[in-house]
Amino acid sequence: MKVGILGGGQLGLMLAESLQRLSAEVTVLEPDLESPARSRLAKVVAKPFNDAAALKGFFAECDVVTFDSENVPAGPLKPWAQQLRPSLTVLETSQDRAKEKTFLQSAGFPVVEHRVVPVGVDVRAAAREFGLPCIAKSSLGGYDGKGQFRLKTEADVAAMPADAPGGWVLEEQLQLHAELSCIVARAKGREVAFPVFENVHEHHVLDVTTVPASVEAGLQQQARQVALDIARGLEVEGLLTVEFFVGTGRAGARRLYVNELAPRTHNSGHVTRQACTVSQFDALARILCDLPVPEVSLHPGVWCMGNLLGDVWLAQGRAGGALDLSCWEQYPDVVDVFLYGKREARPGRKMGHFVVRGSDQSQVAARARAFRAALSKR
Ligand code: ADP
Ligand code: MG
Repeated sequence: MKVGILGGGQLGLMLAESLQRLSAEVTVLEPDLESPARSRLAKVVAKPFNDAAALKGFFAECDVVTFDSENVPAGPLKPWAQQLRPSLTVLETSQDRAKEKTFLQSAGFPVVEHRVVPVGVDVRAAAREFGLPCIAKSSLGGYDGKGQFRLKTEADVAAMPADAPGGWVLEEQLQLHAELSCIVARAKGREVAFPVFENVHEHHVLDVTTVPASVEAGLQQQARQVALDIARGLEVEGLLTVEFFVGTGRAGARRLYVNELAPRTHNSGHVTRQACTVSQFDALARILCDLPVPEVSLHPGVWCMGNLLGDVWLAQGRAGGALDLSCWEQYPDVVDVFLYGKREARPGRKMGHFVVRGSDQSQVAARARAFRAALSKR
């Protein structure tokens, strides 16, 4: 099997490793010359995602192609839509917040109160009318909180940019009780939901993921069912990650909301490499190679994945690359550390992650934070 991956970030790299274990031939298209895939894989084509000639050659070399980010431009992929997993429609729906919200709402899935503000419409007037506090999110291109503005006061409204790529979506600001994610692996006639993860974000970036989640079982069951239903509704062939909020909004009740969709492996799913009988990367690799994905179960224990951001490298006085891991000795419950090999450490940049095994949710998250704090000492 010849498999192409559009995007050579850490998600693309880990997927490539799973594919190679199945003897698939992997080619990556990734413009960044210092991407994780580039430093660790043989076949990386360094061309822009909208380079028609490069795409033609890339698709000619592959039986199927997937992507490691929903921000790859969809338009240029049209001629090769047949080879894309999940489909071009899934990519188009999930990369545009306005389309995504409209799909979710019209299909009857629970979403926050929101308003789509198309390009050319006055977003400031729309925000005042929608009501503060709210969050303005650019429709296209955002990730890790980029392209988002929290509007609490009239001054925030006056200070926000007038335009955003693809226009805006305004959302009510929830009082968050928890954030969850659920990954569904789906192939012809078969679908498997992973256990529900509980996610904590810091400054809009994922900080730690814990599994099993600590929210009540009924909500977890609902999240799994909604994730399966969305994957079915979109006819996903591949992976779909659904991000959820458990929160209280203008409607006044604590409930589950679908936040956004990622038709790919997900940062929160890194924990599956140790915690689950099948990892998210192995599940997608098998689907791409036409192999079966069995029911996924959790290994005994409570598991926590912690992200390592560039800040940890900077705290160690390092520009990037390797990290001093000597304090690991004191943390035998840290079962894995994965460094992505990015050469330039920047604050907030995802540079690696680790997984801790423990006995209960708050203990394991505390251990994860302690390990990261220890790494951050010079
Ligand atoms: P991204 O594409 O950057 O992941 P998200 O829409 O998932 O964008 O927002 C990032 C984070 O910001 C969320 O995980 C959550 O912590 C917070 N957030 C986003 N939307 C809301 C909202 N409507 N109410 C409360 N918090 C929100
Ligand atoms: Mg998100």
